[in-house]
Amino acid sequence: MTEHPKVVIVGAGFGGLWAARELARSQADITILDRHNYHNFFPLLYQVAAAELEPEDIIYPVRSILRGKKQIRVVVDRVTGVDTINKRVNTLNRTFPYDYLILALGSTPRFFGIEGAAEYALPLRTIEDAIAVRNHILLRFERALYETDAEKRSRMLTFAIIGGGATGVEFAGALAELIWGPLSKDYSSLDFNEIRFMLLEASDYLLPGVHEKLQKYTLKRLRNMGVDVRLGAIVIQVTPESVVLKDGTVIPLETAIWTAGVGGAPLPEKADLQILKNGQVSVLPTLQVKEHPEIYIAGDFAHVEKDGHPIPMVAPLAMQEGQTAAKNILRQIKGLGPLPFHYFDLGTAVAIGRNAAAVDLLGHLFTGFIAWILWVGVSIYRLIGFRNKFLVLINWAWDYLFFERGVRLIVTVPEER
Ligand SMILES: Cc1cc2nc3c(=O)[nH]c(=O)nc-3n(C[C@H](O)[C@H](O)[C@H](O)COP(=O)(O)OP(=O)(O)OC[C@H]3O[C@@H](n4cnc5c(N)ncnc54)[C@H](O)[C@@H]3O)c2cc1C
Repeated sequence: MTEHPKVVIVGAGFGGLWAARELARSQADITILDRHNYHNFFPLLYQVAAAELEPEDIIYPVRSILRGKKQIRVVVDRVTGVDTINKRVNTLNRTFPYDYLILALGSTPRFFGIEGAAEYALPLRTIEDAIAVRNHILLRFERALYETDAEKRSRMLTFAIIGGGATGVEFAGALAELIWGPLSKDYSSLDFNEIRFMLLEASDYLLPGVHEKLQKYTLKRLRNMGVDVRLGAIVIQVTPESVVLKDGTVIPLETAIWTAGVGGAPLPEKADLQILKNGQVSVLPTLQVKEHPEIYIAGDFAHVEKDGHPIPMVAPLAMQEGQTAAKNILRQIKGLGPLPFHYFDLGTAVAIGRNAAAVDLLGHLFTGFIAWILWVGVSIYRLIGFRNKFLVLINWAWDYLFFERGVRLIVTVPEER
């Protein structure tokens, strides 16, 4: 019996899963490795942090997604490194030999060396982060209720999101609605005029890279929702009790949420890969690693440029890269040369609370309710699993009709920062 080529995929995110699905059409012997047993739909992660969705509404078991694909083996283990000489992937528990390898490890928050940011700002990158942010915010309200010291209470009721990209904007909209909506009813004895809620963006506009009309619309909409959007606000320090800006402004607070930057996910052991300063790996146009044509990089972990500029890390890019890496491996197995990757960019869709979004669909711009309907459609279509689509729609409908959030649980009490 001839042995089929071994393909190992690291990461069951958008890049890795889409590669696995493409490879499943072949005879290759495929192993997909992830430290989690679930796939995370990050575009709706902020809604978990804003008590709008349950964590399980946006995650889906990898085994269920790949059920029935007999040649794919799913392994839950943490990858610690890659031995490119002996062609092995090392995990905490085992090693996995490969003929071809796809690395789709995703990304991790980057704090740009800002003092205290890694220690005291709350990131929004994993499901655990989202739950921690939700807990933290709800706890500030619980504690503020009984805080008699006005200065301390003001710190508890000041919230800052650092970073005005898509995640920061979407979270700001959802959080504004949570605070001025259900929380204002739950904590009616608090004076909500004491609440300060700001979005801090270092550049002079929100949503970098998006059409100016959408940027202006987003800014106006968020300000109308009660978000104090500060542009040109360069954060230089985060402490447990404040955020400090470059212009000397000190904002006393207990809640700073970091959505300002991500870089390639780290591999604990050094691998023989050209890892750039931002943690991404430099790749050839075919998505191969220069020195190792049997290794492909996909998703956030890959540094890919268009017209000399890096392409932003988004899910459709990761999916298309995963598919291209898989197709190229299948070509190599057949003795053909790999083809260069071309990104087909459909555009951007950013929700700004209920009823409003900013959408660029193939250069056609939409704002307001129509854009929001488009955003809802795209999000539901892209969510994996009928159960999740159904539950998310029910939650949104509930929220929409009753201005209510179902999920306001403080599930664990985080340590005092
Ligand atoms: C909060 C947030 C909001 C976002 N919103 C949007 C949006 O609205 N629209 C959009 O298009 N994009 C959005 N993105 C970006 C999008 O989610 C990413 O571009 C996409 O997930 C990248 O896919 P990936 O496969 O590279 O990485 P991921 O989807 O992150 O998957 C990487 C996988 O690798 C696994 N992994 C990592 N390290 C190891 C290890 N050492 N061992 C084993 N497994 C490992 C992880 O567990 C994970 O499952 C958002 C991202 C975040 C964080």
